[in-house]
Amino acid sequence: MTSDELTRLDGRLSFLERLNEQVNYANKHKIKAGLVLIDIDRFQRINSQYGYEVGDKVLVKFAELLGSVKRKQDYLARIGDNTFALLLMGIMNTGHAELAARKILRLLEMPFSYKEFQIRIECTIGIAICPTHARDARHLMVEAESVLQETKQHSNNIGIAAVQGDEELSDFWDIEMAMNDALKFNEFSVYYQPKVDIVNGRVSGAEALLRWKHQSRGFVSPGIFIPIAEQSGMIKPITAWVLNTSLRQAAKWSDKWGPQTVSVNIPPEFLLMPDFFDMVTNSLKLWDSDNVSLTLEIIERSFISQVDRTIKALDKLKSHGVKISIDDFGTGYSSLSYFEKLPVDELKIDQAFIFNLLQSKPSRDIVRLIRDLGHAFDLQVVAEGVEEANILRYLRKIECDLVQGYYFSKPLPNEEYCEWLLKFECPQACAI
Ligand code: C2E
Ligand code: CA
Repeated sequence: MTSDELTRLDGRLSFLERLNEQVNYANKHKIKAGLVLIDIDRFQRINSQYGYEVGDKVLVKFAELLGSVKRKQDYLARIGDNTFALLLMGIMNTGHAELAARKILRLLEMPFSYKEFQIRIECTIGIAICPTHARDARHLMVEAESVLQETKQHSNNIGIAAVQGDEELSDFWDIEMAMNDALKFNEFSVYYQPKVDIVNGRVSGAEALLRWKHQSRGFVSPGIFIPIAEQSGMIKPITAWVLNTSLRQAAKWSDKWGPQTVSVNIPPEFLLMPDFFDMVTNSLKLWDSDNVSLTLEIIERSFISQVDRTIKALDKLKSHGVKISIDDFGTGYSSLSYFEKLPVDELKIDQAFIFNLLQSKPSRDIVRLIRDLGHAFDLQVVAEGVEEANILRYLRKIECDLVQGYYFSKPLPNEEYCEWLLKFECPQACAI
């Protein structure tokens, strides 16, 4: 039942019904649900300054932006003039909901452009979790609304309801402790997702993505455990393990199929760590193969601090044949003034721009801008999150270089990836 003609989202009444159903479901299946309320700040001012037509447009854009954060199992509604609700199903802890909230704020760093206007939107976000903060829908809503109001009063961006007892803390400790055992008990594995060259239709390499299958919880999403590993310091041995595993496996692929490229995700701070260079070169020596090339994917925000030291670290890695990719490009803080100095090889466009590419002109504009920027500096431009043939066709038309996404393949375990490689033939849409 669509109640809001403008954004095509459910309105407050439908939302409350659905919230009730989902909270009952979460309680029954013993999973957590996070209620994230998002209020656009000073919305009336946008209406009075730019007029109602622009105000309406902002609401539509804002709904699209929230739609890009929503996963399949989540639910999004517009529950007030300038208030939206995002219900996150099956989260592990509050940190997971907070990550979604941070992603929203990150996406808002880019101003909305409409006609001649460039409009900066800010918002306030209130979060409450079932069952951590409330066990039924009504109380969950009360908790989220009251923390939203409190957060507004204190001029903060994100507020989280107060926790009763130490449930969250113990959940954090569970994951952190379990991660210590995960390496020992072989619970980690590396999955591979192909990057396909859009011009010649060949597989140009694979991104290594870490998977953790916990003995009783099953698969734990990297979106949950990687931030915890980063906080606890476990990320260092984990990254060394991912590097070794993927280089070892890529060396085997190269024995059968010739030159291979494997990309590994690296936490931003590693570049400035004194022993990171040795970690990488030791792995390369250990799995020595002339036929394997290593790319490090580093998210954009890492490049803003300590530019000179960062460039030095990148240069040193590059002198050993390592390639550098800027991950999630387009939502960080890159400034053109030092962009030209960065010794990088690849730009990966943030998935958020790819998902809604065909519906959103600003996303298409941004993607074309990133392509131009990349090509001006001789960088490969990669689009990730490609799920549909018509998006692939568009990317091919605008001469993006590489594509990655469910359209070709989800990330696969090593053996399945090898089988996929053997069978892969680029579909018509990709052939020259
Ligand atoms: P990322 O580096 O941006 O990786 C891309 C994510 O998008 C992966 O999620 C991948 O499975 C997913 N993906 C790829 N194609 C599609 C698509 O067509 N549609 C959709 N909806 N999703 C797609 P995943 O594997 O859950 O990883 C999430 C994040 O966790 C990664 O984001 C990366 O930041 C981090 N991560 C994963 N493995 C590692 C690792 O070994 N080390 C570090 N430091 N971070 C890792
Ligand atoms: Ca990546």
